[in-house]
Amino acid sequence: MHSGFDLARERSQKNAIALAYNGKLYDLATNIKSIATATEFEKIEIFGREDPRALEIIRHSTAHLLAHAVKELFPEVQVTIGPVIENGFYYDFACSPFTPEDLVLIEKKMHDLVKRNIKIIRKEVERDEAIKIFQSQNEKYKTQIIQSIPEGDPITLYYQDNFVDLCRGPHVPSTSSLKVFRLTKIAGAYWRGDSNNEMLQRIYGTAWSNNEQQEQYLHLLAEAEKRDHRKLAKFLQLFHIQDEAPGMIFWHPNGYALWHSIEKYMREVYQLNNYMEVKCPSIIDRSLWEKSGHWQHYKDNMFTTESEKREYAIKPMNCPGHIQIFNSSLHSYRDLPLRYGEFGSCHRNESSGSLHGLLRARGFTQDDGHIFCTPDQIEAEVISFNSLVFEVYKTFGFDQIIIKLALRPEQRIGSDDEWDRAEKALKDGLSKCSDDWSELPNEGAFYGPKIEYHIKDAIGRSWQCGTMQVDFSMPGLLGAEYVAEDNSRRTPVLLHRAVIGSFERFIGILIEHYAGALPLWLAPIQIMLLNISQAQSEFTEKFTRKLVECGIRAKSDLRNEKINYKIREHSLQKIPYLAIIGNREVESNSVALRSRGNQDLGVISSDELIEKLLAQSTSRIN
Ligand code: ZN
Repeated sequence: MHSGFDLARERSQKNAIALAYNGKLYDLATNIKSIATATEFEKIEIFGREDPRALEIIRHSTAHLLAHAVKELFPEVQVTIGPVIENGFYYDFACSPFTPEDLVLIEKKMHDLVKRNIKIIRKEVERDEAIKIFQSQNEKYKTQIIQSIPEGDPITLYYQDNFVDLCRGPHVPSTSSLKVFRLTKIAGAYWRGDSNNEMLQRIYGTAWSNNEQQEQYLHLLAEAEKRDHRKLAKFLQLFHIQDEAPGMIFWHPNGYALWHSIEKYMREVYQLNNYMEVKCPSIIDRSLWEKSGHWQHYKDNMFTTESEKREYAIKPMNCPGHIQIFNSSLHSYRDLPLRYGEFGSCHRNESSGSLHGLLRARGFTQDDGHIFCTPDQIEAEVISFNSLVFEVYKTFGFDQIIIKLALRPEQRIGSDDEWDRAEKALKDGLSKCSDDWSELPNEGAFYGPKIEYHIKDAIGRSWQCGTMQVDFSMPGLLGAEYVAEDNSRRTPVLLHRAVIGSFERFIGILIEHYAGALPLWLAPIQIMLLNISQAQSEFTEKFTRKLVECGIRAKSDLRNEKINYKIREHSLQKIPYLAIIGNREVESNSVALRSRGNQDLGVISSDELIEKLLAQSTSRIN
């Protein structure tokens, strides 16, 4: 037999991880004659741990290593599944909860197994044999998984010593190939993700090609932990979530003030860009969702309700509503492009396990716009939307914007000719705005291609927020039409577009980006006035009132506490300005001003202060 190991030896390739041939990856132990003819052998690639293709294999093998270690330490535990995820892997076990001390023990055991340099061996077996093997080890979950594999599919097992796992592979050749990993956290998870099933114990880990990569990632994790919007929101009293309304937000006064600053700005953006703001009902009869196709294709994601023997859905999207407004009057080609915008409250029934603070919620509000236009107008709309997006992100303090164009997927509606035209219009439009965008083949929506705008935050994470999608289907399904130049009735093209995406998610991103220290124009409280003693209470109150009348979000803290105590407390609240008022300030109708970070800005008169704050706030300087 001639294996990948032999090939690696012949080519003097050390530290090989796996093979690649014809776009597929294989174990090094693979008999190369079974995958290629002799004339093709030279096309077989052998790659090492630094190759980008190695990372997934390393992570998957580290998940097996984790399960192996757990089984050695706790033989009574049952193994289930252990997939690769972004930056790492997890493995779910059926057992009583692990403790943080267990995690340390398990990680140590994993390193022991690495040192033992255990060969990882693939074996293809018959279904019955596989079931027998796992039954004999009392692994009922693995047995269930095998039973759910379609008849005829090969069943492959991977052995390392006496540990065996069901897996398609490929894997690294030996445990000694796994060097850089760390277990990161423990969580609960339901078997097959279904809350009716038993709770399993999930261990998360991360694994990398080299130490440098891992250090970088762990540093990012620590940084992200510090900025976690859920923690900061509690401390800054922005919002909370409670179990009675999973995935929905109780906005507190501070959080809602932040929301309002964003909405006010986005409303200005609508107005300056010729969007007409509209508002549609949240609860709409089933028949409309049947026409739009949501009832058939999206029902699992919708909340439904009923009244007087009629069924309704709570809107998961705003588009069908906007089309009703469009349809309520007759439009000519001269009315196009016609742009509606809505701060549209939507609800989607996301699984409870996927919910994550503001970043993934069930109730959210989109800055949702729909442009009704002719095919010829798409390009111009792309160009103007692109500059709008850049302007908005810059205002919020995001300078790094990544553009991606998602092209036709396999499953799609519409003719190839329509797709050609839509993709060309988006490409032509984008090319006129930027030469820095990439294409994502197969990733468009089923009804049309889309542009995605991703922003990079202060610690380098990227978030998709904005989108512009071309839709040929929904306007026709819902009967939208306009009178063309030749008097015929035509169906308009619909452009779905959002800039910040969802208010909830965007606020989560903003909190983490700024680590809670929001720029003045967004800060819930812009300035806090502090009296040194009760003698200045009345003056402080009046001064605060005056600032509020000028449109400044000012508050005062008149508590009979030491001034340093009050300063410290409000500094921790990350308020942009603190104004301190003693007898001298009362006499000169002024305040002693400090900016965030405890920078002393000296004594400033009331008029000067108002002018300064208003200028900074209205210009939305970060
Ligand atoms: Zn839409």
